[in-house]
Amino acid sequence: MSNETIQAVRGMNDILPDEAGLWLWFEEVVRDWLHGYGYRNIRMPLVEPTSLFKRAIGEVTDIVEKEMYSFEDSLNGDHLTLRPEGTASCVRAVLQHNLLYNAPQRLYYSGQMFRHERPQKGRYRQFHQVGVEALGFAGPDIDAEQILMCARLWKKLGLRDVTLQLNTLGDTASRHRHREKLIAYFAQHTALLDADATRRLHSNPLRILDSKNPAMQEIIAGAPKLMDELEDEALKHFDELQAILKRHDVPFELNPRLVRGLDYYNRTVFEWVTTRLGAQGTVCAGGRYDGLIAQIGGKPAPAMGFAMGVERLLALVQEDGMALPGADVDVYVVHQGELAGQLASKMAEQLRDGGLRVLLHCGGGSFKSQMKKADGSGARVSVVIGDDEAQAGEVAVKPMQGGEQMRVRAQDAVATINGLIK
Ligand code: ATP
Ligand code: MG
Repeated sequence: MSNETIQAVRGMNDILPDEAGLWLWFEEVVRDWLHGYGYRNIRMPLVEPTSLFKRAIGEVTDIVEKEMYSFEDSLNGDHLTLRPEGTASCVRAVLQHNLLYNAPQRLYYSGQMFRHERPQKGRYRQFHQVGVEALGFAGPDIDAEQILMCARLWKKLGLRDVTLQLNTLGDTASRHRHREKLIAYFAQHTALLDADATRRLHSNPLRILDSKNPAMQEIIAGAPKLMDELEDEALKHFDELQAILKRHDVPFELNPRLVRGLDYYNRTVFEWVTTRLGAQGTVCAGGRYDGLIAQIGGKPAPAMGFAMGVERLLALVQEDGMALPGADVDVYVVHQGELAGQLASKMAEQLRDGGLRVLLHCGGGSFKSQMKKADGSGARVSVVIGDDEAQAGEVAVKPMQGGEQMRVRAQDAVATINGLIK
């Protein structure tokens, strides 16, 4: 047997207690914010049939081509995948349980996603998203709602420098026309295409526009524009969305090259980006996916959603140095002697009954060493119990930031401590 210590899978992070406080705070802010817009929680499995993602996301996307953790269940031969995103699962669940039967749905979920990417700052193999989906809404009012929601969240999180990029992908007919023109255009310049673009020329030419390769930028700049192909309905939808955003003073930048990495989007697409996280600057991305529900077997219904990258958002929150409420304890209970120990554990429960957060010293040691622990715990008050006090049914209450130590009857401890820390 090897003695080597076992490490976590590369690109999959532990979130240690010091950092978890930030996550808990974030989760609370996010939950309040979502409930403020009437979105309801849904929880899907982390594992889905591989065919779901192939069908929903598209065979020739980065995710399906090279990023999915797919495996065969050796016990029954099922083809399974760790979810790389939430929209496909969410729509699957909604259809499976017939949630769209008589009402549209505003839903959200959060949790781990898995993509086999090259790990680097802001890009991990297990990461977290908060996903928001509005199913059965044709917009553009709901498109605007989701964008306004994001703007509000950035404020709540104290984020600066997150800007909105907006585009429309039109509908099927215009995308088809545009696609044909793109293929024709790039086919005239095959010598200038890199390997990715050559591979995608006929399978997914729209994604060529998304290339980050500097050598490709000039030919991309000259490519036919989808804007020139848009049908009236899609244009009107986009204009109305922009008008609502302007009425709410939400600034945005139109970015005709914003195409998104998944096949299912149409019409509105958006990204919130920052320049402060290096290359991984997109903290939130989404759009409309009117075709997806039918594509995975449901009765056609329009929908709009977005997902935020939690690690990237928290990196920004940390940079902005938000002062977070501490998750420390209120009281540290110090005790020595057998009788004192019995009173101490009773006392700790009693204090918790009174709504206080309590650390009961465990493991013995001198009063002095216990008081050191109390100091380091961040508790505002310590309760000190020796056999002397225990015999008298009393405890000593000591404010940690200086101040007189008081001896009170055990049953009065909650009131005394509440008086001290309010
Ligand atoms: P990118 O262009 O950065 O690869 P994407 O288009 O693949 O992003 P989406 O599928 O739109 O990303 O996911 C929504 C958000 O989830 C992203 O904007 C980002 O904040 C976050 N995200 C995506 N992939 C990762 C990852 N591997 N690690 C951490 N966060 C991620
Ligand atoms: Mg990606």
